[in-house]
Amino acid sequence: MAKQPMLKFVTVDRDMPEKRGATVRKEDFDEIYAEFAQAKAEEQASRCSQCGVPYCQSHCPLHNNIPDWLRLTATGRLEEAYAVSQATNTFPEICGRICPQDRLCEGNCVIEQSGHGTVTIGSVEKYITDTAWEKGWVKALAPAQERSESVGIIGAGPGGLAAADRLRRAGLQVTIYDRYDRAGGLLTYGIPGFKLEKDVVMRRNKLLEDGGVTFKLNCNVGEGITFQEIRDAHEAVIIATGVYKSRDLGGPGSGAKGIVKAIDYLTASNRENFGDTVPEIESGELYAEGKKVVVIGGGDTAMDCVRTAIRQGAESVKCLYRRDKANMPGSQRETQNAEEEGVEFVWLSAPKGFTGGDAVEGVMVQKMRLGQPDASGRQSPEVIEGADYVEDADLVIKALGFEPEDLPTLWDQPELEVTRWGTVKAQFTTGATDLDGVYAVGDIVRGASLVVWAIKDGRDCADAILEKLGATPAIAAE
Ligand code: FAD
Repeated sequence: MAKQPMLKFVTVDRDMPEKRGATVRKEDFDEIYAEFAQAKAEEQASRCSQCGVPYCQSHCPLHNNIPDWLRLTATGRLEEAYAVSQATNTFPEICGRICPQDRLCEGNCVIEQSGHGTVTIGSVEKYITDTAWEKGWVKALAPAQERSESVGIIGAGPGGLAAADRLRRAGLQVTIYDRYDRAGGLLTYGIPGFKLEKDVVMRRNKLLEDGGVTFKLNCNVGEGITFQEIRDAHEAVIIATGVYKSRDLGGPGSGAKGIVKAIDYLTASNRENFGDTVPEIESGELYAEGKKVVVIGGGDTAMDCVRTAIRQGAESVKCLYRRDKANMPGSQRETQNAEEEGVEFVWLSAPKGFTGGDAVEGVMVQKMRLGQPDASGRQSPEVIEGADYVEDADLVIKALGFEPEDLPTLWDQPELEVTRWGTVKAQFTTGATDLDGVYAVGDIVRGASLVVWAIKDGRDCADAILEKLGATPAIAAE
């Protein structure tokens, strides 16, 4: 009988790529995990049990053929592993780095459920495509034939870019409009380099450009150019603008200097790391060095802020969250990374106002306990009377989530239907809105979500447009 290359979970333990020590990694913005060596990637991939019903795949929004590319990796057939991985995912190396695998593929891995520890799917996924880049297997897209129809995409985040890739492969003319000076959306200006190094995003942007996608950057739709002008210029338009309106905090002192929005803080830091001159960093307004920093919120954005503040040399960094650790929305892996780097979590604590005058000096904190579950099943936080105190702070970062901008008003398109949350109303399988030829994908449809969902929406929407135009989707990997 041939030697069995898989099911090694019985004899081989789960292993992650090496993680840089906290004292070293907090000195820079580089990624914290090293790459697997080939032998290690093969060994870890060989732990897969090749289940008849692969729950990893069914819990991946893109339904990536994970067992297939794990088997190909385990048997040294890396170029084929890359082809299979790339066929369902436009940016596998990005998902490998920043997907919350513990909630998706790895969290549903059968051997994880049986107590053996999940296959390290994300790290193998990253290894496969990073190797493909290194070996030159990732090629600029080259459509077999050009078509005359054009699609305008508003927003160069993962949703817009994934749609652009698929449309251009089929030969359509694609123009992406974005208000920022670099493409990538939150991959570029939201997520910090220690989770996703920026050259990983920039090389993808360049690949699309080399493949004939036109980028119109510094182009704010609704200001420099109208939505109607874009609609008139293309057969179809995709709205992929994400959600950027920060949820705010009220209470006494909430307008004081030193209380800032997470997105402004993270964008400034990412810009600085690109080498841009950022006046708010130079003035100290959006810089944590030497400060007592308090971040309010318990999601992934809050985790990115606390870890950025540590790297900027804050005197202390505390994270206030109104529920406890078990009930926070952020990834447990990122919370652990933050704790290792010196962040202090203050659980069951909510802000009620701010002390100080012109500039903030502290956060007035109410202590909370968890009460009865609400309609969603989550325990509601309740105030503990008489337990208030003041947490000293000279930089407060609000990371309370995001809401959509009011596109129908901003773009003078009252007939663009939105939900009661302000997200654009679109069919989930195609992205089609009620406006003829207008589609929407990613966070602007789902509300603040995940990169992998934006990619899925972008691909599905592109396929719907291609079908409508009578074009055939090209096979993803050339
Ligand atoms: P975006 O990425 O937001 O891109 C939208 C683009 O549209 C932007 O480039 C913007 O400039 C442009 N735009 C907006 N309005 C206009 C206009 N009027 N004219 C022209 N251009 C416009 N997800 C994960 O899966 N893993 C993570 O670890 C993770 N970490 C995150 C950390 C932070 C700090 C944040 C904020 C989000 C994080 N997310 C993470 C969520 C993820 O980034 C988003 O779900 C994803 O980027 C949404 O993609 P999108 O294409 O819909 O929008």
